[in-house]
Amino acid sequence: MINILELAEICSKYGCKYSEKCLLNSYTTFKIGGECPIVIDVNSAECAAELAKYLTKSGTRYTVLGKGSNIIASDKGYNGVILHLGSDFSDVAIDGTTICAEAGASLASVCRAAQENGLSGMENLYGIPGTVGGGLFMNAGAYGSEMKDVAVSAEYVDENGEIRTMSAEDMELSYRHSIFSEKNYIITAVTFELKKGDSEEIKAAMTECMKKRTSKQPLEYPSAGSTFKRPEGSYASLLIEQCGLKGMSVGGAEVSTKHSGFVINKGDATCEDVLELCRRVKEIVLEKTGYSLELEPVILE
Ligand SMILES: Cc1cc2nc3c(=O)[nH]c(=O)nc-3n(C[C@H](O)[C@H](O)[C@H](O)COP(=O)(O)OP(=O)(O)OC[C@H]3O[C@@H](n4cnc5c(N)ncnc54)[C@H](O)[C@@H]3O)c2cc1C
Repeated sequence: MINILELAEICSKYGCKYSEKCLLNSYTTFKIGGECPIVIDVNSAECAAELAKYLTKSGTRYTVLGKGSNIIASDKGYNGVILHLGSDFSDVAIDGTTICAEAGASLASVCRAAQENGLSGMENLYGIPGTVGGGLFMNAGAYGSEMKDVAVSAEYVDENGEIRTMSAEDMELSYRHSIFSEKNYIITAVTFELKKGDSEEIKAAMTECMKKRTSKQPLEYPSAGSTFKRPEGSYASLLIEQCGLKGMSVGGAEVSTKHSGFVINKGDATCEDVLELCRRVKEIVLEKTGYSLELEPVILE
């Protein structure tokens, strides 16, 4: 049982917002997901620590959400507390070639800050629509660059509410994976080490990245980005296209005709529609090509 009064007391101590009976479809870029009893907008590491301590001690389920851009949320919602790390926890500080960003900062804002300060290394990450925390959790990457290449350490809160630091070498960062996906930790800040570069060249590279995204990806529809991980030796989008599955749909969910690696929400898709479509795609791809596809987004249920 969630004790709303006790949670409200912690939130009031730190001056952070909490909302009751929230629809997850407004917290996810897929625009899918049922109700969650409480969402707290975390605004500091200390607040995250006290909440983690309280929620663990009281046996209350909780999970963290950033921009919700890699989430397929259940139609039944999430029966627990969502700790939302967003604009209330998004400061970005620069010292020489080092950037320290709070976990709720958008990757885009960190890339822009880097560019304005003539710091190179994050250009290819520009356009990934997540937060710094979500990016590290997924080891997000694009066009040959990954968070792994630029993150040097992170501050996080463990399930006992202790604020700790971890260096990148201990994060087990690999393709769309980090140690954080095996733990119930809350990443509260990430430190990046970049290289000096030319501001105008960095800007041009970022603009180029964005152009590629807008021309190739179905950004006009809600989605969670690439629906399947890249299988060893091929590309999910290529396999799906070879199997003739572009445009295949279940309810309001469709394999994008613009980019077959994306399942999109045509307007009224449910989580059930998306998962059933993904199940069919996986089955056909396995049967026709022998490749076993794995979902990239996290299922929140
Ligand atoms: C149009 C589109 C394009 C995309 N392009 C790319 C791309 O090029 N490359 C790529 O890698 N991804 C891409 N994605 C996927 C997504 O943007 C990334 O995975 C992103 O890093 C997720 O960040 P988020 O803040 O949205 O995390 P969320 O979706 O909110 O969460 C994802 C997971 O991370 C956990 N998490 C989030 N924040 C924290 C935190 N502070 N502490 C602990 N755990 C946390 C959540 O619990 C969840 O399990 C794309 C998505 C869309 C919609």
